[in-house]
Amino acid sequence: MASVEVARGDITAQRVDAIVNAANESLLGGGGVDGAIHRAAGPELLSECRLLGGCETGDAKATSGYRLPARWVIHTVGPVWGGGGRGERGLLDSCHRRSLDVARELGARSVAFPAISCGVYGYPAALAAPLAVAAARAHGHDLELVRFVLFGDETYAAFAAAASG
Ligand code: ADP
Repeated sequence: MASVEVARGDITAQRVDAIVNAANESLLGGGGVDGAIHRAAGPELLSECRLLGGCETGDAKATSGYRLPARWVIHTVGPVWGGGGRGERGLLDSCHRRSLDVARELGARSVAFPAISCGVYGYPAALAAPLAVAAARAHGHDLELVRFVLFGDETYAAFAAAASG
C-alpha cells in the first residue's frame, strides 16, 4: 500500500520518480501546471510529446522528464467540469487510475500528482480531492509513495481533509 502524502508546493521541484501533468488532449503544452512543467523540463519535452499523437480525456501517456528532477512525466487529460452530469467523475477517476498504471509499467516507485482538472478545467477541489485520494489508495498499492502537490490554499485544504478521512 503506497503512503499517500499531501504537500503544498511546486510539482516541478518534486524529487520523485514520476510527476503527473494535467495536460490537454493535444499534449502540445498549455497554461497552468502544464506550462510550468514544459518550462522546467525544457524544449525536448515538447518534441517528445509531438510524437505521442495526443491523448484522450481520462487516459495517460509517459515521456522522459528531461531537466526535471523527476525521471518521467506522465501526461493525463482531466475532464472539463460541466456541472457533474457529463461523466466527469468517471473520467477523473480514470486519469488517476491510468496514471498509476503507467507509473507501474515504467517501474516508478514514487509519483506526484497535481490537482488534475481543478484549475482552468473548473472541477471543484472539494469533489476532486476525495476521488483522487481514494484512487491513489485503491490503485497505488504496489508503489511506495503517492504525493499530491497543491499550489493554492483552498486546494491544499481540500486534499488534506480528504487524506485525513
Ligand atoms: P486543469 O486544466 O486540469 O484544470 P490547471 O493547470 O489549470 O489544470 O490546474 C490544475 C491545478 O494545478 C490547479 O490547482 C493549479 O493551481 C495547480 N498548479 C498550477 N501550477 C502548478 C505547479 N507548478 N505545481 C503544482 N500545482 C500547480
